[in-house]
Parts: sequence; C-alpha cells; structure tokens
Amino acid sequence: MKMVRSLTQWTKTLSFPSRISPKSSKENVTNIQAVTPSHSNNSLSPPYIKTNNEINAIMNDSTITEVNKIYPDPESEKAIMSSVVYCIHHKEGCKWSDELRKLKAHLNTCKHDALPCTSKCGAQIPRVLMEDHLKYTCPLRRARCDFCNKEFTGETLENHVGNCGFEPIYCENKCGLKVQRRHLSQHKAGECLKRLLPCRYCSKEFVADTLAVHHNKCGRVPVVCPNRCEATVLAREEVETHLKDHCTSSVLNCNFKDAGCRFKGPRYSMEKHLEENCQQHLSLMCNVVTKQQHQIASLKTALSRLSLNYSGTLIWKISDFTSKMAEAKTKEGMELVSPPFYTSQYGYKLQASLFPNGNGTGEDTHISVYIKILPGEYDALLRWPFAHSVSFTLFDQSTCPEKACNIVESFIPDPTWKNFQRPSKEPDSLGFGFPRFISHEMLKKRHFMKDDTMFIRVKVDPSKIVAV
Ligand SMILES: [Zn+2]
Ligand SMILES: [Zn+2]
Ligand SMILES: [Zn+2]
Ligand SMILES: [Zn+2]
Ligand SMILES: [Zn+2]
Ligand SMILES: [Zn+2]
Ligand SMILES: [Zn+2]
Repeated sequence: MKMVRSLTQWTKTLSFPSRISPKSSKENVTNIQAVTPSHSNNSLSPPYIKTNNEINAIMNDSTITEVNKIYPDPESEKAIMSSVVYCIHHKEGCKWSDELRKLKAHLNTCKHDALPCTSKCGAQIPRVLMEDHLKYTCPLRRARCDFCNKEFTGETLENHVGNCGFEPIYCENKCGLKVQRRHLSQHKAGECLKRLLPCRYCSKEFVADTLAVHHNKCGRVPVVCPNRCEATVLAREEVETHLKDHCTSSVLNCNFKDAGCRFKGPRYSMEKHLEENCQQHLSLMCNVVTKQQHQIASLKTALSRLSLNYSGTLIWKISDFTSKMAEAKTKEGMELVSPPFYTSQYGYKLQASLFPNGNGTGEDTHISVYIKILPGEYDALLRWPFAHSVSFTLFDQSTCPEKACNIVESFIPDPTWKNFQRPSKEPDSLGFGFPRFISHEMLKKRHFMKDDTMFIRVKVDPSKIVAV
C-alpha cells in the first residue's frame, strides 16, 4: 500500500513529451493520465517529478521488484520505462530528454540535481553549487584563518572573522600603523604616536608626537633665573614677573630716575642708595615741582583762554550764598568776582563784581553789583570811552515761569566817567553799577535764591542806547 501511494505521488509529476506518450490500455497508465491534467490537455509543458529521491525510491532494484509485484505485467512496465520524458530539472534549465529508464543514470550526472552535502551538513545542494558550498558556505567545511592559521569549521570561522587576535588592523588613533588585534590596546596605551599624554609640567593632555613641541613653550617648564639669583627654580611663565618684581639680582633704575637721578644697580643695593642720597633726591624733586608749577600756570592761561566767553552775555552762578553772605557780614568789603568775559570776539574784556553785604549806600542792607573793565587783548583797536549799555538781571527761579519776576537794572555809561576810559595794565578795583541792587529783605522773598544758589545775568548791548 505504501508503495502504491509513493508511485502515485511521483507519477503525478512525471512528464512526457506529448507526441510520444505511452499507449494506455492498462488501468494504472490510465491512472497516470488521469492525474496529469496538463497531459490530458495535450499541453507542451508537462509537469515534472520534483525530487531525485522519489525517483530513487521507485527505480532501485527493490522498488522495481515491488513495482513488479504491483504491476506484474512486463509489457506495461516496458512501455512505461520506454516513455520519453524530460529531466526532472527541465525547468531549471536541463535540456536532457530520453527514455524513463535512463533518467536515473542521467540524474547521477545532471548538473541541476540536488545532492545532500557531502560533508553531511544536511543541506541539499545542486550539483553545480556543491563545490562552492563545500568551500564557502557549508557550516561543516574546514577552513583556516588567514591570520592565525588555526583551522575552523565554517560556522566558527564566521564568528572568528573580525575577532582574530592575529589580524593586523589599523590603529583607531589614525597613527597610520597596522597592529595585530591582540596587541592593539598595548599599542594605544604605550607606543601609539597619536595617543594622548599629559604634559608632565602643566598636566594638560597632548597628542604624543606634539608633546616635544609643547615642552618648548610650556609655561610650567622649570627654568633658572637668567640673573642666577638665589631664587629656587622658577616656572618659565613666572620669569618675567620675577625679574620685574622680585629678582634680587635684577638691575634697576633709581626710583628718582624721572627726577634726574642716574643711579642703576641690583635690587639689593637700592635701599642703601636711597638712604644715602636723600638730599640729592629731594633737590631733584624740588626742581621737578618748580617746573611743574610753570607748566600748570601756562596750562591755566591756555585753559582760561579756551573757556572765555565772547558772547557779551554772562550768566553768573553764585552758589553757597548763605555762607558767602555770612562771611561778608564779618569781613568788610568782601567782594565776589565773576569769570572775565568779552563783549565780542575782539571786544572789551569785562568782569562783574558783587558785594553780598553791600557797598557804599547799600552797605549792610543791600547787595551791590558792579561791572569793571579789565585790560583786554584788543584794547588798542577799540573805541574809548566804553559806551555799550549794561544790564544786570537777578533771576526769579520760580517753577512757574509766568509768575517769575526778575530784578533788572541797566545803565548807559557816562563818557566822562573815568571808569569807562581805556584801563591801564594794572588791575583796577573801580567799577560802575548799583550799590542798592536788591535789599537783603527782598532777597528772601520770591525765588531769587534756590538751593542756596542765585543767577545773575550781565548783558552788554552795543546797539542799545537807552537803558531799560
Ligand atoms: Zn538533468
Ligand atoms: Zn554542507
Ligand atoms: Zn585567526
Ligand atoms: Zn596608533
Ligand atoms: Zn605643559
Ligand atoms: Zn632672579
Ligand atoms: Zn637715586
């Protein structure tokens, strides 16, 4: 029964070129035709037996015997075995076609027939691929590692490849060297030119082959003082400060060099020099002071010239007035003077003056204000006597401008008055103005004084001939 099933199985796929199909009078042959639908349709691409094993099972002697038992009719058997069939690997490309009886012999040489791997790995390998399989893919193949020369079976070799300790590989630090894998960590730790090493002086890390260059400039490399002083070892970066501030052998200039002392000597001798030359240093310093005083004076002149007012109008700010008033009460004739100003760029040089405690008819009761003509740069070119109108304004500093009420006094000079003639080079204390400009009582009213400060405007007007 078993064999019948087996035969049925292979006959299902066995194919016959249609024109030479066996004549079928017997039941079993009819059976073949019945289970081969493509044949019954007269197809030109008949079905195929799938495996050699199935054929073997049928065609070996014992099987034939069995077949004989099942199909005792030798006529039928002969007819079947004479049928012309394709190789079972027709689809894979085998062109063989012959009598069925010759199929087994063909399959032994058919390039497309699969055989079990001869190394017994269990795989079915087409005959054409067997050589390749045995050499490269069979897990049971024997192979040597190119690097360590040990023998492996295929599978263990695959695990070994990429891990062999003897395989030379490039160092990961990109030093360019190839080192056997087993020596790599030792190489990277101890020999690799691209490994990182700490500088032994500053502890920063450097690529090994640049360390020597770094040592040439590392600030922490110990050096001796260039003056060979007794200082213990210095770091290179400290030398400059050492020479400048600490080295006892550094040659220094005397501290009074700028004043003119020419002494030079090592630091340790300086104290002695200073002690022994006090007098000389003192007189050098006195010379410096005198020279500087002259410089200051000429700077002051230059500055006052720069800050001179040429507008003809002076706004005179007098602060700390309370203390000035208090001083004036105790000091007779105490006078405040304004910065000098010019009536125009090449005009008259004027100065205002103010007596907080009054002067003349205003003494003790009023503030007096005056204008003085000072000797100016351009007096030689100006018209004399001075004839411009002069006005004094004391500002009411009320926060509300509409309510402010300023005190204004002005005059046109009297040409006969001596004070308006060209002044001599000697400063003249004589002025012209208002001894009773504003009373002390009035000063307390309104907002003439704010933050202990008053503002007086002195305005010189060459066009006005009428005083307001
Ligand atoms: Zn074949
Ligand atoms: Zn194998
Ligand atoms: Zn190896
Ligand atoms: Zn390396
Ligand atoms: Zn360093
Ligand atoms: Zn030194
Ligand atoms: Zn000196």
